[in-house]
Amino acid sequence: MNGAFTNNNNSAKNKYIYLDHAATTPVLAEVVSRVNECFTRFYGNASEPHLPGRDAKEILENSRTVIAEILGAKSSEITFTSGGTESNNLAIFGIAEAYGKNGNHIITSEIEHPAVLMPMKVLSRKGYKITYLPVDSNGLVDPGDLKKALKPKTILVSIMHANNIVGTIQPIEEIGHFLKERNVIFHTDAVQTFCNTRANVDNLGVDLLSLSGHKIYGPKGVGALYIRKGTKIMPHIFGGGQEQGRRSGTENIPGIAGLAKASEIGFRTLDDKIRRLSEMRDYLKEKILGNIEEARFNGHPLSRLPGNCNFSFKYIEGEAIVLRMDMVGIAVSSGSACSSSSMKPTHTLKAMGLSNEDAFGSLRVTIGFENTYEEIDYFIEEVKKIIQDLRNISPLYKNIHKF
Ligand code: PLP
Repeated sequence: MNGAFTNNNNSAKNKYIYLDHAATTPVLAEVVSRVNECFTRFYGNASEPHLPGRDAKEILENSRTVIAEILGAKSSEITFTSGGTESNNLAIFGIAEAYGKNGNHIITSEIEHPAVLMPMKVLSRKGYKITYLPVDSNGLVDPGDLKKALKPKTILVSIMHANNIVGTIQPIEEIGHFLKERNVIFHTDAVQTFCNTRANVDNLGVDLLSLSGHKIYGPKGVGALYIRKGTKIMPHIFGGGQEQGRRSGTENIPGIAGLAKASEIGFRTLDDKIRRLSEMRDYLKEKILGNIEEARFNGHPLSRLPGNCNFSFKYIEGEAIVLRMDMVGIAVSSGSACSSSSMKPTHTLKAMGLSNEDAFGSLRVTIGFENTYEEIDYFIEEVKKIIQDLRNISPLYKNIHKF
């Protein structure tokens, strides 16, 4: 990282500052060396009986055990995939097809990641009935709404553990225990929470859980799906029958070993990370709200990811702030990323009831454990200037602050 901004001076002003950890994380040196070792020394095909094959198989199974232990699961309940998107697709299509005879009703929320919402859209075209639960102004699903939405034909509920835009953590335990008593299959997208908060499958009461490597300082293109023993699932990639037939294809040993290494480190340092990031997040929140007028903090004040801050700044657009921040060497994200085909603000903020103006003016700052208070202070200093600059040229702002 750091490119043009790197020089011998280590101060925050002279290097590129990365504050977009919800999008992806840098890869840890220990992970890179483990991945490298697997590319160069342990290159075997895990399905082959010879020594390189057996070595690869051992790495594969040890990695599975690492992930299983973190989740409080059995190794046989872990299926490796190409990441969070594939895990969500496998969970949703796999359950819909395997249990389609029992019913055609599925419940999810309005603020899921597109990797859940798009499969739901495809299923609705195939005749499945999808209920999208609303959220409150903090981004929380009301378990009471779920209870009301449940029908005899409900075969699956999929509610994300934490939202990627505003960081709100959902009452998964409460929902999980309610669904358990009714024998309804429960999936959670834990891509943002795995190794970022505690996520034990029995405590959460989930039957399926998606996770991804690149949100936890691991490689991109690798993830896993936890599938509780006894849960049927219809695969959607067919071939050599790897991963108990649930996901064919020669296993990505370097990626999987890298995921396991990142998980191992992430889990070992979790308590420290939660404490440090929560403190930094609260510091950043106070400084922004205390120093910038007409700023709001989005998402739940308490039930939220340790490193996630989401703000809305009136009269200006988040996209403009992101571009200007990049010019001063800081990576943040706009919560209102417009897709090229539409100029709609993110569905999460709209579902929380934000006005278009607040949704367009949103900025997501996601902190990682390698960030320092010096970097946060530099971010605050720069964002204050940029927001004032942008407001000074905003017709909306000028109209309201004429005198
Ligand atoms: N689900 C959530 C909540 C995410 O934040 C992401 C990534 O942004 C995904 C799923 C997709 O994961 P991946 O990038 O590993 O496919």
